[in-house]
Amino acid sequence: MPCWTSSACIRSLTTTDREAQDAQAGRLPAFAQPWRELPFTRLSKQLESRAAQGLLRRRRTLDSPQSPHCVVDGQPCIAFCSNDYLGLANDARVAAALRQGAERWGAGAGAAHLVSGHLTPHQQLEDALAAFVGSPDALLFSTGYMANLAVVQALVGKGDTVLADKLNHASLNDAALLSRAELKRYRHNDVAHLAQLLEQARPGSKLVVTDAVFSMDGDIAPLPEILALCERHDAWLLVDDAHGFGVLGARGRGTLAHFGIDSPRVILMGTLGKAAGVSGAFVAAEQVVIDTLVNHARTYVYTTAAPPALSVALLESLRLIEQGDALRTHLYALVERLRSGLAGLPWRLMPSQTAIQPLLVGDSAQAVALSEALRARGIWVAAIRPPTVPEGTARLRITLSAAHTEADVEQLIEALHALAR
Ligand code: PMP
Repeated sequence: MPCWTSSACIRSLTTTDREAQDAQAGRLPAFAQPWRELPFTRLSKQLESRAAQGLLRRRRTLDSPQSPHCVVDGQPCIAFCSNDYLGLANDARVAAALRQGAERWGAGAGAAHLVSGHLTPHQQLEDALAAFVGSPDALLFSTGYMANLAVVQALVGKGDTVLADKLNHASLNDAALLSRAELKRYRHNDVAHLAQLLEQARPGSKLVVTDAVFSMDGDIAPLPEILALCERHDAWLLVDDAHGFGVLGARGRGTLAHFGIDSPRVILMGTLGKAAGVSGAFVAAEQVVIDTLVNHARTYVYTTAAPPALSVALLESLRLIEQGDALRTHLYALVERLRSGLAGLPWRLMPSQTAIQPLLVGDSAQAVALSEALRARGIWVAAIRPPTVPEGTARLRITLSAAHTEADVEQLIEALHALAR
């Protein structure tokens, strides 16, 4: 446990040469002054309380590139916890494109897009993404988190309403809070509840926001029904396709393609650090929406553009996604095998047809214990606990990648059955 979680450590952290000098000079040591000690104590108490509930988070360091076959804390292991669904994060062709991009375009963009940081590879990637998802235009962002903040904040404000699925990604909730619109949350995938909230919404713009594939559950939002409601109530629909882009729909075009949805009312947000294997995000929408974002979205206007080499790498990723039917076929065969192999365990595999296959454990400490027991067998599956998921629903979030082999999945199945015994 890191030392800053204990009160003893607060003292050792604040005992400095300066304090020794203070003591010699007969002054009160800085840490003894209430204004100095209080904030440290408060932080430390919060962390102690998290630790007591088994909720303290810590990071593990990979000593290898991102891959299902990685080295963690010096130990080789098979990992089932990345979002690298197609195995492109460590693909030699994408890495080569990144290298060539850096040689041709340098290391950094040097400015925000609206100043002088919008380079040819950025524009080429935006054009390619818009064509790929069949949208009039697309706009790049440095992260999906920033893209979600941008869309919500640009489309709604005070007096408007955001209607959000209860299990949406945190960035969508934060986006609604920042926008100052009223936030109404409907029960997960409950279209009837959404309809009721839309009926009751105040006059003013309405924006419905939903994950397309829910990040911690793996299930897919009923987008056709949600879109029909948006049509009826003249509401915008923001679809966060972080976990569908690249893996669902024809050629990996995403969840909208999976459902055959093509509507000017829909604003699509896709991330580029998951199936695309690199980093960043895009918003695809009607021209007027993109122009609005360029002019009004604070997380677009007031930030340095991502390095152009990333766009060069992403153009290669996009080519591999488009030609990646074999990768997707392999991925979904692994999903099928995992689901059939894990039948009969004391922990329930949640209903999901995607690469996200959560195993519901319930209690946080038990989820951590199960994750640790797998680790002892050379298998890494992250335990996901509150507040990321609702209280009492801690789980092992198993994710599959096209870079997994059948033997990897068999090993996970065997390990879980052995631990259940
Ligand atoms: N939306 C969803 C559904 C996500 O799962 C994530 C990332 N976990 C994001 C948005 C944020 O994307 P990024 O990591 O690119 O900021």
